[in-house]
Amino acid sequence: MTYDNENIFAKILRGNIPNDTVYEDEYVLAFKDINPLCPIHVLVIPKNPFTDASDFNSRATPDEITGFWKGLEATLELLEIRDGYRLIANTGRNGGQEVPHYHVHILGGCSVGPMVSRN
Ligand code: 5GP
Repeated sequence: MTYDNENIFAKILRGNIPNDTVYEDEYVLAFKDINPLCPIHVLVIPKNPFTDASDFNSRATPDEITGFWKGLEATLELLEIRDGYRLIANTGRNGGQEVPHYHVHILGGCSVGPMVSRN
């Protein structure tokens, strides 16, 4: 999939759309989801353009990959989530991905429920 420079997270990274930043460094931006599904719902995105998990895993440099996961961990430490959390990387149509810039959801502060809905 070609990266769409006009996707909403690209606009957030360019500063064209405001966000509620939780953590930021050279590699990642972490910000609150606009439609939270738990009391804590934060999105962690790489600063460079990757469409989804597979695009990131196959094309990102080792420094970008390490930087992303270290940034996610730094975000988790700031959030001080009690009693666990769930990380979700929706990927592609069947995965329910809406925004075509790779992101990992952090969900916490509630019981997240079953891993997959059978509805
Ligand atoms: P996906 O379904 O692609 O995994 O998740 C995209 C997430 O982005 C959704 O949870 C949605 O609420 C969130 N989102 C969409 N537009 C915006 C926005 O403009 N700002 C923020 N903070 N979150 C957004």
